[in-house]
Amino acid sequence: MTEKMLSLIIPVYFEEEVLLESFRRMDAAMQATGHPYEIIYVNDGSRDGTMKELRQLAKEHPDTVKVYSFSRNFGHQLAVTCGMDHAKGDALIIIDVDLQDPPELIPKMVELWKNGADIVYGKRLKRKGETVFKKLTAKLYYRILSSMSAYPIPLDTGDFRLLDRKVADVFLKMREQARFLRGMSAWMGFEAVPIEYVREERAAGKTKYTLKKMIKLALDGIFNFSSKPLELPFGFGVALGILGVFGLIAMIVLTAIFGTGCPQWLWAVVGGVLLHALTLCCIGVHGMYLGRMYDELKDRPLYIVAESLNTDKD
Ligand code: UDP
Ligand code: MG
Repeated sequence: MTEKMLSLIIPVYFEEEVLLESFRRMDAAMQATGHPYEIIYVNDGSRDGTMKELRQLAKEHPDTVKVYSFSRNFGHQLAVTCGMDHAKGDALIIIDVDLQDPPELIPKMVELWKNGADIVYGKRLKRKGETVFKKLTAKLYYRILSSMSAYPIPLDTGDFRLLDRKVADVFLKMREQARFLRGMSAWMGFEAVPIEYVREERAAGKTKYTLKKMIKLALDGIFNFSSKPLELPFGFGVALGILGVFGLIAMIVLTAIFGTGCPQWLWAVVGGVLLHALTLCCIGVHGMYLGRMYDELKDRPLYIVAESLNTDKD
């Protein structure tokens, strides 16, 4: 049997300060696995010295280092996607360049993979060196996300993970534009094993995930994995409608049986409530159609077979 190969995928954006130190540790970690490997850097439109350093690394390590450089900044998720598109390994490992996710965990992830895990994902026990705002919003966000999503998305995980080739192949079939990799990974299922770690401080430089990028990713996470926001008006409409109907019945009973007439304006208010309820329900129905159209547009695989037995005899 030929030896299994590993692909390490690293997105980089304005990282000249950390790149070389990062390569040293990543390369050592990959060597420690004992498997042949490739390290794929995707330069996401950096305009600093990043590309110069990558050219140097590619020259010094022609067999292991591969570089793809974007024409502009397309964003972290697309940089990772490009790396996955070109990876040749039997397992793909995705890691940030800034050493916040310790590369020294890679050999352990590979062990878990060899023991049968299809996905090994990093679970953050603690986050060092990040602002209280970032920690708090991240914590809150992961909880909102998992309550909205129809599939369980593991809490407190990022994109630091190992994917078996069969999982990566499914990813390659999912060509949706707005990508939220950790959610797509959860949607696919498969045998996922967590590996716990403390998220370190950035080795150098500042975060490249601006607030704007973080908000976009957060919204992609929610809207890509749930049509619930689109259906929300329907729920409101039904609740308001029930309220209106009860009001109407109460008023009819008061007028017809007890003869205590209700003021004109109250009839108008209840009529208004019922009309609003109807409008909200109609908007909600539109939302349900839209949600279904969105699902069709994404054109994801209908199902994913993880294993099949005796099927090649057919
Ligand atoms: N990154 C990228 N494109 C971007 C922003 C970030 O490729 O538009 C890369 C960045 O170089 C790093 C990883 O994505 O390798 C995570 O970014 P960062 O460390 O700045 O995010 P944080 O850890 O602060 O959330
Ligand atoms: Mg980081």
